[in-house]
Amino acid sequence: LRLSSGKVIERQTRPLPNHSLRIWIIRDLTVLQALDQDMAMHSSMVEEDAARTAAMAEQLFLAKSELEANQAELRRLANTDSLTGLYNRRRFAALGQQTIAKTSKEDIWIIMMDIDHFKRINDTYGHAAGDVAIKDFATIAKKIVGDAGFIGRMGGEEFAAILLNTDRDTAIRFAEDIRKACAASQTVCEAERFRFTVSIGVSAWLTGELSIEAALDRSDQALYSAKSYGRNRVVGYEFAQS
Ligand code: GH3
Ligand code: MG
Ligand code: MG
Repeated sequence: LRLSSGKVIERQTRPLPNHSLRIWIIRDLTVLQALDQDMAMHSSMVEEDAARTAAMAEQLFLAKSELEANQAELRRLANTDSLTGLYNRRRFAALGQQTIAKTSKEDIWIIMMDIDHFKRINDTYGHAAGDVAIKDFATIAKKIVGDAGFIGRMGGEEFAAILLNTDRDTAIRFAEDIRKACAASQTVCEAERFRFTVSIGVSAWLTGELSIEAALDRSDQALYSAKSYGRNRVVGYEFAQS
């Protein structure tokens, strides 16, 4: 019973056995009732808190995923040449370093590639056409190298590739495939159509060399020879010449 005074009482009655009397038990439940209401309010507050915390956790999770995606994109941009999508020089060198750190065998070959008379292409067909030629080269080289290694744009119209688990003949064959595919392809930029060739130098990384720089340098020397022998050719570095 809820009394007008605000008190809450409970009444129980039962007959007293063998008497024509009844027993009445009256309990004041006011305090218990108030406690019950408090408990109900408390548990609803706990539920609201839990819902708010879950919503906040979800927002945090989404913000974290977005941040991680942004960071991955920034990393990709910092490692990639924007024109070709190839590794930039810095990333290429870092990957080269990681590669030689993992091997003790002399099965890593480095090829340096440079588009022939590229200045002429720019002068004749325009800078935009030159850019298309660079992209075409990247597509061709990437397709041929595939899983055998990786390619970087070292700057301008100069590229390098690192070939893994490779011997001299295989490295020269990859280089020849790239050279032939470039000579056979046609670059198209708006109304202009033209062909370009590449010169390529090939050299091995030698065990004991702490970086790929020396091998890059040897490949560069071989590339220089390819240029002076008349371009559109592959030259392997001859250790006897040094
Ligand atoms: P070689 O056969 O000896 O390699 O001669 P080359 O003309 O290819 O070499 P050179 O180093 O004289 O010229 C390279 C030119 O490439 C000069 C530069 O203006 C141009 N170049 C560098 N980067 C880019 C680029 O991103 N896009 C375009 N279109 N041209 C570029
Ligand atoms: Mg060139
Ligand atoms: Mg060059």
